[in-house]
Amino acid sequence: MEWDELFASRAMRMKASEIRELLKLLERPDIISFAGGIPDAALFPKQAVADAYSDVLTGPQSSAALQYSISEGYVPLRDWIVRDMAKIGIVCTADNVLITSGSQQALDYLGKLLLSPRDTALVTWPTYLGALGAFNAYEPNYDRLTPLSNRPAEAYNEQAEQAGGAVKFAYCVPEFNNPTGETMPRAEREWLLDLAESLDIAIIEDAAYQALRYEGEAVPPILALDLARHGGDIESTRTLYCGSFSKTLAPGLRVGWIVGAQTVIRKLVLAKQAADLHSSTINQMVITKVAETVFEEQVSKVRATYSHRRTRLLDALGQYMPPGVQWTKPQGGMFVWVTLPEGMDGAALLKRSLETAKVAFVPGKAFHADGSGANTMRLSFSCASDAMIEEGIAKLGQLIADELAA
Ligand code: PMP
Repeated sequence: MEWDELFASRAMRMKASEIRELLKLLERPDIISFAGGIPDAALFPKQAVADAYSDVLTGPQSSAALQYSISEGYVPLRDWIVRDMAKIGIVCTADNVLITSGSQQALDYLGKLLLSPRDTALVTWPTYLGALGAFNAYEPNYDRLTPLSNRPAEAYNEQAEQAGGAVKFAYCVPEFNNPTGETMPRAEREWLLDLAESLDIAIIEDAAYQALRYEGEAVPPILALDLARHGGDIESTRTLYCGSFSKTLAPGLRVGWIVGAQTVIRKLVLAKQAADLHSSTINQMVITKVAETVFEEQVSKVRATYSHRRTRLLDALGQYMPPGVQWTKPQGGMFVWVTLPEGMDGAALLKRSLETAKVAFVPGKAFHADGSGANTMRLSFSCASDAMIEEGIAKLGQLIADELAA
C-alpha cells in the first residue's frame, strides 16, 4: 500500500518534531535534561483535582459532567475566565470566550479559520515550534516578524502575493516566549498593532505563560492595548488571545481558551463542533472548581518554585559558560535561550553532549521557520533541581569551552 500517495498535500508538512523524538531518548536516568519544557508534576494540585472530580461525580452535576455539552464551553468556566481576563485589562463577556482542548487546539483552529494554502503567517524567528506544527497543516508560507523594524507594510504584502496568497495574521508569544523566555516590551506590542492595522490582519497572542511572571513590571497584553485603541469595544479588536491552564494548574486536563470578537468566536465554535463537538465536560467542571478554590495559591507556589530555578540557572550560566556564549534573562516562564558563538552547531553539540557530558537541551534550529538558528539552544528550568543545574551547567560549559578550544 502506497500510503504516501494517498496523503493530502497538507500531510507533507506534518513532520515529527525534533523535540518529541528527542524526549524519548531523555528518559535515560544518566542524562541531566534541560530539554523537556513541561511543568513540574510535583507542583500539580493533585488533592484539589481529586476532590473536584469526586464532588462533580457524586453531586447534582454528575450526569451533566458525563454528558455532551455545548461547543462554546462550560458557562461557569467562561465566567471565571471573564473575571480573570478583567484583572489584566481585558474586558469581555462569556460570549467572547471559547473553551479549547489546550491552547494548542486554539492554534490549530485559528490556522484552520484564517489560512488558505499559500497564505502568509508572520512569525518571529525563533517561535513556538508547536505553533508552526499547527499552522503547517494549512500550508502557509512564513514571513519574518522583526519587532520595531522599519520594513514597510507594503513589503509584507508584496512577499505574500509572490507566494500566491495574502498576509492573514501575525503570531507571537509576548510573555516569556517559548523558546526565548523574552517578554515583548510595550513599544513592540504597539508597533505590532500598528503593523497589523496597516496590513488589516489579525494578531494571535499566545499567552500560555501569562501568569508566570517572577519579576519586573507587568506589560499589558496586546488584546488590552488593542481594546484601549477601540474605546474598550472588543468587537472592533483584531487580537485573538489564547490562554491556558496547562502551566498554572495541569496540562493533562487539556483546558485552554480563546478570547476575541464574537464574529470570530462564532466561527470558531463551528470549527470546534466539526472537530470534536466540545472539550471534555467533566474536565471543564473540574478546572472550574479548582480555579475557584486554589488558583491564586497554586500560581504563587508555581511562581516561587520556577523563579528560584530560573535564578539558579542564570547564576550557573554566569559562572560556567565560556566567553562568547550569550543568553536571555527571562522575567518569567520556563526557558532560557542560549546563543553559541557563530559557527557552532547546537544539534552537533547535543549529540556530543549526550555521549560525553550527558546533558540534554533542545537545539534551536527547529524553532526557526526558515531553518536558521543553528548556533542556538533552549534550556528549560521548570523541572531542574539545584543539584541538576549546578552539575549540568558546569558540564555543559566545559563541553562548550572544549569545543571552542579544539
Ligand atoms: N503555546 C506555547 C507557547 C506553549 O509553549 C505551549 C505548550 N508547550 C502551548 C501553546 C500549548 O499548551 P497547551 O495546549 O497545553 O495549552
